[in-house]
Amino acid sequence: MVRMFDSVLGFFSNDIGIDLGTANTLVYVKDKGIILREPSVVAIRNSDRKVIAVGDEAKRVLGRTPASITAIRPMKDGVIADFDISEAMLRYFINKVKNTVKFVPVRVVIAVPSGITEVERRAVRESATHAGASSVYIVEEPKAAAIGVGLPVAEPAASMICDIGGGTTEVAILSYGDVVYSKSIRVGGDELDLAIINHLKRNYNLVIGERSAEEIKIRVGSAAPLDQELSLQVKGRDAAAGLPRTVTVTSQEIREAMRDNLQMIVEVVRNVLERCPAELSGDLVDRGFFLAGGGALIRNIDVLLSEATGVPVTVSDDPLSAVANGTGFYLEHLDWLEKHSRVS
Ligand code: ADP
Ligand code: MG
Repeated sequence: MVRMFDSVLGFFSNDIGIDLGTANTLVYVKDKGIILREPSVVAIRNSDRKVIAVGDEAKRVLGRTPASITAIRPMKDGVIADFDISEAMLRYFINKVKNTVKFVPVRVVIAVPSGITEVERRAVRESATHAGASSVYIVEEPKAAAIGVGLPVAEPAASMICDIGGGTTEVAILSYGDVVYSKSIRVGGDELDLAIINHLKRNYNLVIGERSAEEIKIRVGSAAPLDQELSLQVKGRDAAAGLPRTVTVTSQEIREAMRDNLQMIVEVVRNVLERCPAELSGDLVDRGFFLAGGGALIRNIDVLLSEATGVPVTVSDDPLSAVANGTGFYLEHLDWLEKHSRVS
């Protein structure tokens, strides 16, 4: 009975939370949870810039596109590079999940990178409205991430989150429900992939694509020495002969290749800790900070960061879902937000 009631409610609810990430977009539907996870990729036809695929389908063609098609990641650097394309992407995702029942208002909570400008914010709002949203609430990503991993952000004590995404790493300290200090850099998983591509080119004269590089990072990548180091066979194209070739790489050399970029992440974390107001610093000594985003899954990234900062580091349970789960919390409080409509 309860079940049936739930599903009827769910059917008529059109409250949607969106994590518009640089690499992945996740959609959370109230009472259902996360129901969509797709790459933030749009494939367009060059001749007329017509959108021909979005999400999973568009990523499949990334790197394999014929010259007439380009795969674009509109959020790549944490800012909106192309308004029309990001709007097309948002519309596609909203339409994919929204109820087809007419007259049910679609309320959307969107988490955007904290570094985006007022103009971009307005563009996201307009895009969502064009895509059919009746009301749009823009929330700060680090705050959504912190809520999503279960940090007590409303308390007077400090909470700290480090979200390592595809295009950016965002670090924030929160207290009393607000971001006290935050910093974002354009270094994330993508830069690590590029470092791996360069490493193979320089040391083996082997050319590999972004997707292979990402696979190497996921299969053998690490930020600090492993108890059991790993190795992997990698296929690519010989840069000189132009023919397919296979080489074996080790986790040690991949770690070394990613070192400079990982160091930049270490630096931004240290910087935020140093800038933390003194009265909040004390909280962080014991509690440390939490890692979210796909980059949190790099082996021993917690070890590297905790050794470099001297505070405890915890990898959150489901780092890829943190921001989307945070938007789910906002959805629970939408009626309240509507009354106190300051968030938007
Ligand atoms: P964004 O929020 O910017 O869209 P995500 O939080 O979805 O980014 O993280 C995407 C990044 O995480 C990509 O660079 C991806 O390669 C990386 N990633 C995902 N899984 C892993 C893993 N197991 N190990 C290392 N990196 C990973
Ligand atoms: Mg993210």
